[in-house]
Amino acid sequence: MAKSVLVIGGGPAGLSAARALGKLGVPTVLVEKENKLGGRPVLESYHTLIPRKMTPSQVLGPYIEDVQSNGNVRIMLGTEIEACEGEAGDFKVSLSNGEKLEVSAIVVATGFQHFDSRRKGELGYGIYPDVITNLQLEQMFSKEGRLYRPSNGELPKRVAFVFCVGSRDRQLGVTNVHCCRYGCALSGLQASEIREKYPEVDVFCYYMDVRTYGTWEYPFYWAPQEEYGVRYVRGRIAEITFNPADGRLRVKHEDTIVQRPAEIPMDLVVLVLGMEPSPGTKKVAKILGLKQDPDSRFIVPSDESGSNIRSNKEGIFIAGACKGPIDIESSMAEGEAAAMEVLNFLGAKVTV
Ligand SMILES: Cc1cc2nc3c(=O)[nH]c(=O)nc-3n(C[C@H](O)[C@H](O)[C@H](O)COP(=O)(O)OP(=O)(O)OC[C@H]3O[C@@H](n4cnc5c(N)ncnc54)[C@H](O)[C@@H]3O)c2cc1C
Ligand code: SF4
Repeated sequence: MAKSVLVIGGGPAGLSAARALGKLGVPTVLVEKENKLGGRPVLESYHTLIPRKMTPSQVLGPYIEDVQSNGNVRIMLGTEIEACEGEAGDFKVSLSNGEKLEVSAIVVATGFQHFDSRRKGELGYGIYPDVITNLQLEQMFSKEGRLYRPSNGELPKRVAFVFCVGSRDRQLGVTNVHCCRYGCALSGLQASEIREKYPEVDVFCYYMDVRTYGTWEYPFYWAPQEEYGVRYVRGRIAEITFNPADGRLRVKHEDTIVQRPAEIPMDLVVLVLGMEPSPGTKKVAKILGLKQDPDSRFIVPSDESGSNIRSNKEGIFIAGACKGPIDIESSMAEGEAAAMEVLNFLGAKVTV
């Protein structure tokens, strides 16, 4: 096999693709625009991952070590692609460091970005310090190891999780109507962690409906309620305000079960962030001429193929969150599936 395969993005999906290709003896170039491998879970210091309650380094560390130690994989950090010419089997790719690559096939694994909660002004993010995102809560746990109100450093008495921020939201237009898939389950885990460590803290989850897929239903929906005493409230949040008289937030919502408006004092509000295509995903899709969903701008698979890993361009494969919200294990499985598709495309013979 003369030419290499290019994998763009060193997150869970790209790492798995590069690892599998390397192990199968395929010369592979892994290009990552940041200076570290691991994607959002590592770059953003997630704390404990659903569903197996492991850390990012436990899940992704062995994959990072494998690509770093495999002589078939060349890793280029701090690098992006700038242009691409040619066709399947013979792509000529220009990189941001001035280097040019000749590759047979490309795997795109450029991932997602977190929704910017400032776009939901009524939730008070960026205005009230005690309105934080679930990503900030992960970082509070992973970097500081304790729960506190950013406004005064004290332990909150009451914490509210607000589900679906930047997801399933038609007020934002057509771009953010998709479900984030991970948010209900991660909130169930985070809420349980709070109750386990601080039993004196009351935790409320405000939801439209709870989507804990497949086997996630018991550990991340029922267990938070039955084993940890987390309270679930079906309600639409109208507004989050601040009451200077007691220094607490007010969560104004309509309880859609009893069909009454309510206003509850809270000390910390956690916004459960949606997922959007990363700037890198949009840029790479444009450079490579990949088809994107006209509304969400995620990359979509080819219409002609039954595979959800093949793009509309022959020889270019797509894996992970560049195609839409997805969890880490599925992203890794798609990375491996992309490696198999590449092998099939190259017609490579594997020697065992
Ligand atoms: C707050 C939050 C918590 C989450 N917690 C969990 C959890 O506990 N468990 C779980 O299963 N899922 C969780 N998820 C989902 C999880 O983050 C994704 O499933 C996963 O990160 C997707 O992996 P990926 O490789 O497709 O994309 P990413 O993780 O986004 O990785 C993409 C990589 O590509 C790089 N890149 C982007 N553009 C370019 C470019 N142009 N050139 C080169 N490199 C580029 C990026 O820098 C990045 O390293 C969470 C999501 C959020 C928002
Ligand atoms: S997974 Fe849950 S929080 Fe995320 S959009 Fe779907 S319903 Fe909302």
